[in-house]
Amino acid sequence: MSMSMILYGGSPALGEPVPTCSQLQKRNLDERAHFIATSPPRVSKPKADGSMPKKTPWEMASGSGMTYSSAHSTVPGASGTSTYTSNKLSDTYLHQTGLGGTSEQRNGLNQEIRESKKPEHAAAKQKAGALCDEYVHPGGGKGAHAECKIFNELTNAVTKGTLRGGKVLLSIDWRSQGKDGIEYSGMPCSDCYKMLCHAANECGIDIHICDYKNEPVVMRKTDCDKAGGHRRLAKLVDGRPTGGRMDVPPGVPPRRIFIA
Ligand SMILES: [Zn+2]
Repeated sequence: MSMSMILYGGSPALGEPVPTCSQLQKRNLDERAHFIATSPPRVSKPKADGSMPKKTPWEMASGSGMTYSSAHSTVPGASGTSTYTSNKLSDTYLHQTGLGGTSEQRNGLNQEIRESKKPEHAAAKQKAGALCDEYVHPGGGKGAHAECKIFNELTNAVTKGTLRGGKVLLSIDWRSQGKDGIEYSGMPCSDCYKMLCHAANECGIDIHICDYKNEPVVMRKTDCDKAGGHRRLAKLVDGRPTGGRMDVPPGVPPRRIFIA
């Protein structure tokens, strides 16, 4: 059993230590290293026409395209620490069951159905709903991002529609392909930011995100509705508004800088 077993449920045990950002980051780094070391190291081959197929989970975890996120929650009835990834295979290395919510929650729904008030869409919205009030993630699998999976599981730990209050501290390790190599970011993507904003503003959950110095940063609820709110948070979390973290996470070889 992985160390990232979910501990959700009940109220926080008296004196239970709240993990620090460094400890949450260590979970992300250790679990990523564990997956890279133990999963099949499959590498995709170019297709007949020379184009590259979708990256394999191993390629994404060891290069770019895979997020690991760890969170500690003190939401009443859903307290505990857990780690999720943006991929189903790597999640099975962390959890036997509870792959980050139901398939309906992970898949999400398209905008038309999400915003529909028609009774024929009510059942689908209810099934895919998360947080305190049937918040539905955007379609195309946006609810399967690591941060959404964490909140799907928190949602399902309590009676539907009652996920309210408390605090969630998130440490995010997002790696994407930038023009100068892999970019490391501690930020949620803009869709996950909207979900976190909803959790904060509608469900009264305080959201804290670990910054590149491993200090928790408060996600300001009032920034959510403002243009540039996401960039402002990036400035705090990554140290700059675009381009990922100011530095790389520990254990990652620093980017080589070539001087012409
Ligand atoms: Zn996301």
